[in-house]
Amino acid sequence: MKKALVIGSGISGLSVSRMLSPDFEVEILEKSDKIGGLIKCERIDGNLFHRVGGHVFNSRNTAVLDWFWKHFDQEHEFLKAVRNAKILMNDDLIGYPLENYLYQLPEEKSKSVISELLDMLTKEKKEIHEYDNFRDFLIGNFGENLYNLYFGPYNSKIWNTDISKVPLEWLDGKLPMPEIKEVILSNIYKKEESTMVHATFFYPKRDGSQFIVNRLAEGLNIRTSYQVSEINWVDGKLVINNSLDADILIYCGDVRMLSSIIKIEDVALHEALKRVVNLPSNGTSNVLCETDDNNLSWLYLPEDKFKAHRIIYTGNFSDSNNEGSTRKTCVVEFSGKQEEDLMLAELKGLPGNLKPLAFNFEPNSYIIQNKETRSDITSVKELLSKYNIHLLGRFAEWEYYNMDKCIEGAMQIREQIAIEN
Ligand SMILES: Cc1cc2nc3c(=O)[nH]c(=O)nc-3n(C[C@H](O)[C@H](O)[C@H](O)COP(=O)(O)OP(=O)(O)OC[C@H]3O[C@@H](n4cnc5c(N)ncnc54)[C@H](O)[C@@H]3O)c2cc1C
Repeated sequence: MKKALVIGSGISGLSVSRMLSPDFEVEILEKSDKIGGLIKCERIDGNLFHRVGGHVFNSRNTAVLDWFWKHFDQEHEFLKAVRNAKILMNDDLIGYPLENYLYQLPEEKSKSVISELLDMLTKEKKEIHEYDNFRDFLIGNFGENLYNLYFGPYNSKIWNTDISKVPLEWLDGKLPMPEIKEVILSNIYKKEESTMVHATFFYPKRDGSQFIVNRLAEGLNIRTSYQVSEINWVDGKLVINNSLDADILIYCGDVRMLSSIIKIEDVALHEALKRVVNLPSNGTSNVLCETDDNNLSWLYLPEDKFKAHRIIYTGNFSDSNNEGSTRKTCVVEFSGKQEEDLMLAELKGLPGNLKPLAFNFEPNSYIIQNKETRSDITSVKELLSKYNIHLLGRFAEWEYYNMDKCIEGAMQIREQIAIEN
């Protein structure tokens, strides 16, 4: 049997390993002492802490759903929920996505937003590729009023950067782009938005996304606390850290690191890897908290007066997440690295009488693409394929992937490998 080494035990590495296992001898190499990457969780005195975000699952791709549900019993192991997300503005809770709930805004504000949208209806709509950057795109689609009220402040916070410098490539197919006519009709008929991937979602009854990790890892050969720092090519075989060899390698780590990890003498490859070494990304600081009861799934915080940008009510996803507390739990998310003292002060100003239980900083949460990123990554992929190295996942492919997109990517790699072998 040929040997495949998979670097990284996040959802990408676990999925592709399961898919390759029937035909290859597969081993996963994971630098951390725990498996799961961004989706791992831990219990803090009984309460479940999603160390990054608050992962829920769904997909619009039926092949991905079929593959996923082959590994889980949907009825007995998962809960299905309808999103109940709100935006906190001026101490009021407004529905999410905001454009469907303009009637909930104060009358003066909703009047100015709606009249601007009506004016925009008479003008020709630009296609996405005609916009130069994310800011212009949001203004072009939703108008200055909605931009100033919500889209500008929220996105500047979450991206932690000047969004007029953020290009649009990453956005393709990721955000719903409602027509103004649809927005107005949704407000008149008070229709719930249902096209976004997490408008309804699945969530494990126990242990959140760690449950997904543990199940997908069953039966796989995983070496933890093993950092891959050298990849070489000797006599037609891949050699890792001068000690392990493989016929195929799937890299699910950070593409920026490959320039120093790959020791293969190939000038064109190293030039391509240098072009992706400085890609910008954003981290997040997360605080697990106890909160007063509510029925929300997510609360968005666009206003400058709050440093946090979102509260994820993970305690409402499953009661078993609150086993160490008499109250519910939630995760408060801040963009970038924040000092604990600052976060503690900020929690006091947020709703729910929050009591902090644990902190985590994740340096690699959000990828930021620039105009050349997609073509640069494509060249890296092509040059690596000569050595049977494949890139897979959010930071390896530098794509704004959710879990389902990682699974979809794993399926594509399996197909590609099947053709080549
Ligand atoms: C705040 C936030 C909220 C999110 N919410 C959702 C959600 O609700 N639903 C959803 O579907 N998706 C969500 N996502 C997206 C989801 O987290 C990612 O798509 C997914 O976890 C990426 O998995 P991955 O395996 O590609 O990468 P990772 O999870 O980053 O895994 C990479 C692994 O490789 C290991 N590694 C790296 N380098 C090396 C090396 N040199 N040697 C050995 N090991 C190495 C790392 O330690 C890590 O374990 C969210 C993301 C964020 C940031």
